[in-house]
Amino acid sequence: MIGSLNSNIPSGPLDQKWEKHKFESKLINPANKRKYSVIVVGSGLAGASAAATLAELGYAVKCFCYQDSPRRAHSIAAQGGINAAKNYQGDGDSVHRLFYDTVKGGDFRSREANVHRLAEVSVNIIDQCVALGVPFAREYGGLLANRSFGGAQVSRTFYARGQTGQQLLLGAYSSLSRLIGSGAVKMFPRTEMLELVLVDGHAKGIVVRDMVTGAVSSHSADAVILATGGYGNVFYLSTNAKGCNVTAAYRAHKKGALFANPCFTQIHPTCIPVAGSYQSKLTLMSESLRNDGRCWVPLKKGDTRKPHEIPETERDYYLERMYPAFGNLAPRDIASRAAKMQCDEGRGVGPGGFGVYLDFKDSMIRYGRNSPGGESLGEPEQLARGAEKVKALYGNLFDMYHQITAESGYEQPMRVYPAVHYTMGGLWVDYNLMSNVPGLFVLGEANFSDHGANRLGASALMQGLADGYFIIPSTIGNYLATVAPDKRPKTDHAEFRAAEEATKARTNKLLAIKGKKTVDDFHRELGLIMWDMCGMARTEKSLSRALSRVPTLRAEFWENVNVPGSGESLNVSLEKAGRVADFLEFGELMCLDALERRESCGGHFREEFQYTAKDPEVQSGKVCAGDVRRDDENFCHVAAWEYTGDTTKPIRHTEPLVYEVVHPAVRSYR
Ligand SMILES: Cc1cc2nc3c(=O)[nH]c(=O)nc-3n(C[C@H](O)[C@H](O)[C@H](O)COP(=O)(O)OP(=O)(O)OC[C@H]3O[C@@H](n4cnc5c(N)ncnc54)[C@H](O)[C@@H]3O)c2cc1C
Repeated sequence: MIGSLNSNIPSGPLDQKWEKHKFESKLINPANKRKYSVIVVGSGLAGASAAATLAELGYAVKCFCYQDSPRRAHSIAAQGGINAAKNYQGDGDSVHRLFYDTVKGGDFRSREANVHRLAEVSVNIIDQCVALGVPFAREYGGLLANRSFGGAQVSRTFYARGQTGQQLLLGAYSSLSRLIGSGAVKMFPRTEMLELVLVDGHAKGIVVRDMVTGAVSSHSADAVILATGGYGNVFYLSTNAKGCNVTAAYRAHKKGALFANPCFTQIHPTCIPVAGSYQSKLTLMSESLRNDGRCWVPLKKGDTRKPHEIPETERDYYLERMYPAFGNLAPRDIASRAAKMQCDEGRGVGPGGFGVYLDFKDSMIRYGRNSPGGESLGEPEQLARGAEKVKALYGNLFDMYHQITAESGYEQPMRVYPAVHYTMGGLWVDYNLMSNVPGLFVLGEANFSDHGANRLGASALMQGLADGYFIIPSTIGNYLATVAPDKRPKTDHAEFRAAEEATKARTNKLLAIKGKKTVDDFHRELGLIMWDMCGMARTEKSLSRALSRVPTLRAEFWENVNVPGSGESLNVSLEKAGRVADFLEFGELMCLDALERRESCGGHFREEFQYTAKDPEVQSGKVCAGDVRRDDENFCHVAAWEYTGDTTKPIRHTEPLVYEVVHPAVRSYR
């Protein structure tokens, strides 16, 4: 069993910790850097930025991804934008405000020191990306443009239409490509990490499978960085790319890395509703749309009239009613629950009543009216002009909505419903972004670090790039300085051999089952259990049920799954089978974490712990009935789980969260 968790947060005033830490951090002499080999698993924003920056510093970098090109990482899907405390709008933003908004947005379940550093570094990210040629939207005068995102009352989100992730990734990828070209980074696409290798308790390499030939091989290094993204696909249906998985993180967990807050899942309020039981993917409608789109449902239950037939007086703009200070830009956890509440009351729209409207008409009229000569135009002309402005801001999102639903968001309100989107939980890391396994670092969505129980919109890109461009390059030296250069174990070391054998045995076992159900059958079933029992709302009863159903499903998987084909060539079913096998174990850990956290906070909504109409906080107008109720006395901590074996219960460790500057308070957006 591991000892106490040391977060290694530097001493001193909050706003000086990072500068002080960088100064006190160990440096590696430039001539020695090339003697150190660093493995980066992942080439999304976190991995690509880390691999490029470390190689630029002089380290010998190997980078792995399972796509055919680093630029296909899931980060490419990010739509709405990236936050930074530049205060270009002069609307009162500052590093401190971004820090405060993020801590509050995470419902006071994140580390102050990490979040403050993130806010500090945010301003550098924008400069770095502009220097790389990222085409952020600009104002007429040339300054970078901003829009608002949930949980903030300032405009601090930088964007490139609805394709911000794509543009940022192309920026990081261009640096990475240059270094691949110069030989400083060796890139391994279509290569899946299946084991972490520890030698004398330190991370010293990985075992991978070539996804085209099926060859299993080992790679040794002086440090291993996992930037392998989030695990929202444990729910089967999510806004994540289909390939997103937990495998790398979970295999590291089984080798001793603690998994922190696995139950902290983000449900995004505005996704295209599920349309049928054989759907395999959900689509996000970016939060940026809530800058101009208003959420509403009919006031009357079961109102089946078309949206334009429902007069203003018979509509409920529920977010504006419930959270007047933030309105449609209430944070995601709150906006999602509010949408669900309306649908549960029978006021949802569309098939099955699982939808709310996201309506742009008012904004289009406003934009049209404010255009030159627009005031004198009639409503149809104003709408037409306003639609052009809305198109310029979010055109690709409207196109996507149209392609999927065959409805035009310009002509009628979009229909949206909450869906799984992001995972705040991840491998536990200290202030250096090192896990409890020496030499194993974790970046981006794969770690648990900065977002607490709820991530604010446009903060994931910020965190991934902060981790890769600015934090790991400064902190990895603290570990490498303790490692003798050029002394890493060779891949014929017994630990590598054993890990390779385990990988091959597992692959062969999956192929040999020859059962009757497909991998997707099992994944879909797991997803339903997770969504119904550990999704947007959880109870002791539902979680206990899930904890008995997931192991049963897992046992059936290992007896009855059918993985066609062989292990010696491209085999998509085999890839999926390995990932689903991990989800079937990891899902249980999520439910256990959700069960043990007997409070509600952020995206973790335990129905037993919520404000009711009788509570003084509701009566005084601070929160609404149905809002989450934290228990700071007993749960103001990070829960970090230790794997103890396939048949034994994991151990729950805690890292207390100490607030020196922000005082946890009732989280109010009213
Ligand atoms: C639709 C959508 C829109 C979003 N929009 C925004 C937004 O506007 N703003 C914002 O801040 N956030 C947004 N997010 C969240 C954000 O995109 C992600 O959190 C972020 O991009 C994750 O980056 P990452 O580098 O950590 O991981 P990823 O981009 O997921 O990259 C993971 C990498 O790890 C590799 N990998 C994984 N497992 C293995 C393995 N076993 N072996 C080898 N390689 C492996 C993959 O190949 C990939 O290269 C959005 C998310 C979604 C789903």
